[in-house]
Amino acid sequence: MNNCIPIIPTQNCEPVKSYKPGSPERKEAISEYNKLMKKVVDIPMFINGKNVKSNKTKYIYPPHNHKHIVGKYYEGNKNHIMNAIDSALKAKKEWASMDFAARASIFLKAAELLRGPFRQKINAATMIGQSKNIFQAEIDASCELIDFLNFNVKFANEIYQKQPESSKGIWNKMEYRPLEGFVFAITPFNFTSIAANLCFAPALMGNTIVWKPSDSQIYSTKVIIELLKEAGLPDGVINVIYTDPVMTSNIVFKHRDFAGVHFTGSTKVFKDIWKTIGNNIQLYKNYPRIVGETGGKDFILAHNSADIKEVTTALIRGAFEYQGQKCSAASRAYIPSSLWKRIKNELIKELKTICVGDPEDFSNFMNAVIHEQSFDKLSKVIKKVKKNKSAEIIFGGEVDKSVGYFVQPTVIVTKKANFFTMEEELFGPILTIFIYQDKNFDKTLKLIDETSEYGLTGAVFAKNRKIINESLKYLQMSAGNFYVNDKPTGAVVSQQPFGGGRSSGTNDKAGSHLNLLRWVSPRTIKENFLPDKNYRYPFLEK
Ligand code: NAD
Repeated sequence: MNNCIPIIPTQNCEPVKSYKPGSPERKEAISEYNKLMKKVVDIPMFINGKNVKSNKTKYIYPPHNHKHIVGKYYEGNKNHIMNAIDSALKAKKEWASMDFAARASIFLKAAELLRGPFRQKINAATMIGQSKNIFQAEIDASCELIDFLNFNVKFANEIYQKQPESSKGIWNKMEYRPLEGFVFAITPFNFTSIAANLCFAPALMGNTIVWKPSDSQIYSTKVIIELLKEAGLPDGVINVIYTDPVMTSNIVFKHRDFAGVHFTGSTKVFKDIWKTIGNNIQLYKNYPRIVGETGGKDFILAHNSADIKEVTTALIRGAFEYQGQKCSAASRAYIPSSLWKRIKNELIKELKTICVGDPEDFSNFMNAVIHEQSFDKLSKVIKKVKKNKSAEIIFGGEVDKSVGYFVQPTVIVTKKANFFTMEEELFGPILTIFIYQDKNFDKTLKLIDETSEYGLTGAVFAKNRKIINESLKYLQMSAGNFYVNDKPTGAVVSQQPFGGGRSSGTNDKAGSHLNLLRWVSPRTIKENFLPDKNYRYPFLEK
C-alpha cells in the first residue's frame, strides 16, 4: 500500500490478569492446562513455512512431573540447518521489500491473537514446559510478549521517521535497510517472550531468521509457531530448528551470509560465540552484528533508613519468583546489622508460608527448576555450603527430585563478602546475605561494585534521599537496570528497557528502539534537484 502514511495504533502495556479464585481467566487457564497434560503434542521443526520431521525424536516432560510425557519433538541434522538458512535467504527479498505497514500488521495481529484466543494456550504451555505458576506465565508469555509485539512496531515507526536535514535544492533521506544476509536467534529457556522477541525484533525490521530455541523451551515454541502461522507471517521469514547447539553454530558461523546473532543465555556460551565469530571474520560478506544478553549476579542493598517489610517482600519476590531463574533475580543482598534481626525474623516468618510444587495447584508460589542438570548443580552448591564454616543456611536447603526437580527457597548468610555464592550466577532459588556494619555503608557500595563480573540489575532500599543519590552515583556501572525501593526483577517493555553491561551482555536494551537499531544497516540517500553543470568553483576564477 503506497499512497498513504499510516498512523500506528496507540498502545498501552497489557494489563496483567489477576487469576483470583472464581475469575473466568483462572477457569480457562486450568482447563487449558488439564487439556494439554492429557496429550502428547507432536512438535516438528518449522522450515520455509512447513512442518519438518526427522527420524530422531525426543520426549518432553514437565520439570515438576518428570515421568509424564507431554510432547515429542524432532531433532534436526546438518541438512535441516542448511535448509533453514537457505529458506531464510530465499524469503529475504520479498520480506525486506514489503511495506512496513504490512509487516507491522502481522505483528500487531499476533499481539491481538495473544491477547485473545492464544493467551491461555501460551500460558498453559509455559506453565507445563517451563514450570511457571500462572502469574509468572501471564507476565511473561502473554503480557510481555504482547508488549514486545506492539511496542516494537511503535519504536520501528519512530526510527523510520528519524530523517536527516535537507538543504536548498537537496532532499536527504535515510533508508533503514535490514542487514544483508540472515539473522541467527539463539534463545534461552526461561522466558517465552524473550525467545520469541529475539526473532520478532529483527524480523520486524525486514530481516529473516534462523531460530534455534533452548531444548527446554520447545514446548511453548510450538505455540509461537502456531501464532505466527495464524498471524500470516510469510513462509521462510522465521525458520525454527531443534538441533545440537554446537553443530548449529559450526555451520551458521561459517556461512558467508551470516549477518548477525541475537542471543540470550549464559555468559560463557556468549563469549565462545563472540570468539568463534571473530576467528571466522574473513569468511563473511559483512561485519556481523553481535547482540547478547547474558548472566547476572543481581543485588539488593538495604540502608538502615529502609522499611523492613518492603525489603523483605523484595527479597522474597526478587530471589524466589520463578525459582530464581530470572537473569534479574536477586541473588546477593547487603543488610545493615541494625536491621538484620528484624529482617531475619520477618523473612523466615514469610518464607515458612511459601509452598513449592506443581503449577496446576494455584497455591504454589514456587515450582520446579528447569531440568535435572540444574537440580543437580544446585544440590551440589547447597551441599558445599553446608560444609563451609564461612556460611550458614538459615532457611531451606532441602531438595527433592523424586517427582519433579524441586529446590526449597534457600537463604545463606555469609561473613565473607566474596563467598562463592555472592559471586557466581547459580540460577536457582538461592539467596546469599552479607550483613554489614551500618557505619560501613560506603565500603559496602564498593563491595557491591567489585564483587562479581556482572552488571545486570540491582536495587537500593532507603528513605534517605542522600543515600539514594550516593548509591545511584557509586553503582552507576554496576547495573544496567537499577531500582530504587523496588525489587530488581519484572522489567516492563517500554517502561524499563532491559539489559546490562560488563559480563551481562551488550546492553542493547530489549523493549526499546535501541535494540531495533542493531538490526538495520542505514543507507543515506542524497538527491540533488538542480545539479551543477560546471566543475569550476568560484575560488578558481581569475
Ligand atoms: P544457555 O546458555 O545454557 O543456553 C542458551 C541458548 O544457547 C540455548 O538455546 C542453548 O541451546 C544455546 N547454546 C548452548 N551452548 C551453546 C554453544 N556452545 N553454542 C551455541 N549455542 C549454545 O542458557 P539458558 O540456561 O537457556 O538460560 C539461562 C541463562 O540465560 C542465564 O545465564 C541467564 O542469566 C541468561 N539470561 C539472560 C537474560 C538477559 O536479558 N540478560 C535473560 C534471560 C536469560
